[in-house]
Amino acid sequence: MFNVEDIRKDFPILSRQVNGKPLVYFDNAATSQTPQQVIDVIVDYYSNYNANIHRGVHALSQEATDKYEQARHIIQKHFNARFAHEIIFTSGTTHSINLVANGFSSILNKGDEIIVSALEHHSNIVPWQMLCERTGAILKVIPMNQEGELIMSEYDKLISNNTKLVFVNHISNALGTINPIEYIIEKAHQVGAAVLIDGAQACPHLKPDVQALDVDFYVASAHKMCGPTGEGMLYGKEAWLKKLPPYQGGGEMIAEVTFEKTTYAELPHKFEAGTPNICGGIAFGAAIDYMNAIGFDAISKYEHELLEYATQKLLEIEGLKIYGTSKNKTSVISFNLKGIHPYDVGTILDKMGIAVRTGHHCAQPIMDYYKIPGTVRASFAFYNTKTEIDSLVAAVKKARLMLS
Ligand SMILES: *Cc1c(COP(=O)(O)O)cnc(C)c1O
Repeated sequence: MFNVEDIRKDFPILSRQVNGKPLVYFDNAATSQTPQQVIDVIVDYYSNYNANIHRGVHALSQEATDKYEQARHIIQKHFNARFAHEIIFTSGTTHSINLVANGFSSILNKGDEIIVSALEHHSNIVPWQMLCERTGAILKVIPMNQEGELIMSEYDKLISNNTKLVFVNHISNALGTINPIEYIIEKAHQVGAAVLIDGAQACPHLKPDVQALDVDFYVASAHKMCGPTGEGMLYGKEAWLKKLPPYQGGGEMIAEVTFEKTTYAELPHKFEAGTPNICGGIAFGAAIDYMNAIGFDAISKYEHELLEYATQKLLEIEGLKIYGTSKNKTSVISFNLKGIHPYDVGTILDKMGIAVRTGHHCAQPIMDYYKIPGTVRASFAFYNTKTEIDSLVAAVKKARLMLS
């Protein structure tokens, strides 16, 4: 049974105070908090078997290698990838996207088209712009509507035999919209285009099945799903990963090196040059185990309750507008108070111990669409409570009185 009070006991940080008030952590879309179970794994690694992996004959190196490869299997199982070697460890979503974008440099030709969405995070826009500059490919954008949804009839018009790649986030970090990725993938495949889905914002809330989705690439960050920062993954279909050239050169990624020619290691090592974040990978596996033990059905059901409760309570505040009102959305609320800068609201909330994010949320094109400088974003996780939402609502009311 899902019991939020028991779950909260797993997160030491949730019992601390900020500015003399109990911490209310509503910045989960930027990074999630870490349960003791994952912290213990990190401490255990550095206390007991810290060693470099894969090359060592000694016991510690063997242990570290086994645990690291076990984590790869946990991730493989979680995302339902066919093979463990289809999971590449990276430093996070940004790294994963750049790895794929770099690989496509040698595949794309002048005039080929890449489709992205208006709802993208900057990390999902800039690498494609750089790729277009290198290759002469053309970037097309699926537009959005007032609700913060992608307009699929416009996508239908953009897609053509020139489309080689489609990149969309599964869930928008700025608005919480859940995008119709099944449709997007199917349409792209009809013209032979590859699809990369940015799952950074989806994986904290749901469990994607990469085979059922038939997606070509799927990426995520550990730190948004109860794991450590600087760690993430790239899922790629075996055929695609074999086709893409390596991203970085170095140790681990080679089979044989002479000054005349180097041959590359088999997957997944071809993409894992240098000493990786070994502890991070192991802790990522532990974080996924932790979340699965609670269960993603229970998590999404509870978070949906929080979303509905907070939406209703916040909308009772005069002059408050919510951006991103799709029926298909996750527990992210982006809002502004009429005539008040989001930064000022965020500062007052912080004084009351409430952590929210203010600004453009690395998604400036969305802010431009709404013609606003930014929003206040409250994003909820499964360890948040309705009582905390009540504190937020009271604090926003107070901020409104102080600032207007
Ligand atoms: C956070 C986020 C990213 C970037 O993730 P990093 O861990 O900073 O690399 C990319 N896309 C989306 C949708 C995100 O929410």
